Amino acid sequence: MSISPLMPVYPRCGVRPVEGDHCHLIDEDGTRYLDFASGIAVNLLGHSHAGLIGAIQQQAAKLMHVSNLYGSPQGEALAQRLVDKTFADTVFFTNSGAEAVECAIKTARAYHQHVGNDDKFELITFTNAFHGRTMATISASNQEKMHKGFMPLLAGFKYAEFDDLESAKALMGPNTAGFLVEPIQGEGGIRPGSEEFIRGLRQLADENDLMLVFDEVQCGVARTGKFYAYEHYGIEPDIMATAKGIGGGFPLGACLATEKAARGMGFGTHGSTYGGNPLAMAAGMAVMDAVANDEFLAEVTEKGERLRSRLEQFIGNYPELFELVRGKGLMLGLKMKVESRPFYVHLRDNHQLLTVAAGDNTLRILPPLVADDAEFDEFFDKLSAGAASFDPATA
Ligand SMILES: *Cc1c(COP(=O)(O)O)cnc(C)c1O
Repeated sequence: MSISPLMPVYPRCGVRPVEGDHCHLIDEDGTRYLDFASGIAVNLLGHSHAGLIGAIQQQAAKLMHVSNLYGSPQGEALAQRLVDKTFADTVFFTNSGAEAVECAIKTARAYHQHVGNDDKFELITFTNAFHGRTMATISASNQEKMHKGFMPLLAGFKYAEFDDLESAKALMGPNTAGFLVEPIQGEGGIRPGSEEFIRGLRQLADENDLMLVFDEVQCGVARTGKFYAYEHYGIEPDIMATAKGIGGGFPLGACLATEKAARGMGFGTHGSTYGGNPLAMAAGMAVMDAVANDEFLAEVTEKGERLRSRLEQFIGNYPELFELVRGKGLMLGLKMKVESRPFYVHLRDNHQLLTVAAGDNTLRILPPLVADDAEFDEFFDKLSAGAASFDPATA
């Protein structure tokens, strides 16, 4: 047998973390890494947040899982808090981002089919999007590297050019159910949609009775300095998928919708065995307690601005390596002039700095939202040393 016991779908690197300490990860051989990847925008409270740990420990001792056949005081409480803090009137809890997007896709289709518009099933999605790895969510992305070997794709998705309103308009037709978009693309390279683009999609949806579906799995939950990124644009979606940061590291996602958008999601239309379990609800509540308030969000904004201006200063020293800084809050991307992946590997292996590679030659910088001044200083020490010792020709 030559296949590994762990199905070899990930090209795993030599970092093998066994412990976390605020914004650091400790490897099984004791090496400390500065974690400005946060499990890909997940560990927004870092790795040893007393409130989150305490909430999970207490809930685990009381009740971890019950069926959704029973009443859910824990689910009702977290759903109510999300409803209070967002555009949404109703929430479906999932265990992951892909499941949240899946529910969002079903909700958008059901909105039309519930009233007999069975031909309105198509979602217009956008180039270089990432929505997850299920059949529906890979079908929603134009990225061929995710399709290979899994054909045929699910019908009902058309790909327009990201940040190009005219290209979305050109794909609209009698089958269009709505738009599915990351307001700020994560995996695609930390690319914020322009205000014209995002507001334009809202307007097209309004004019044509279409669903505007946001995938805020990566950009949501305080990451950009707003509780959700749509707040930057002065508009609201009809349906939104959220996950990653919302559990602070505990598997949790959700599909949020307005009452109108959820009109097709009645009894028996959707479900999940684990979705909304009391343990996940406790984690989600602890994260909300920490981040869903103006003081915390203002801190993220302030840290984001400082990080950004320091990054902009820094890249001025290496004009041959870096092109620009983009993103919002603590969701920042460093677009490189050389291939970004070798630099990301160099930072990781030679300077014990964890970031995330992304599309469009971009290095994703996603620190825990609780990162402190000392950790930001350490980040710049490592990044500077990494840039000084990096040779794109030999990497
Ligand atoms: C990570 C991500 C997903 C998928 O989330 P999983 O929890 O891995 O299923 C979907 N959309 C976006 C924008 C993401 O960043």
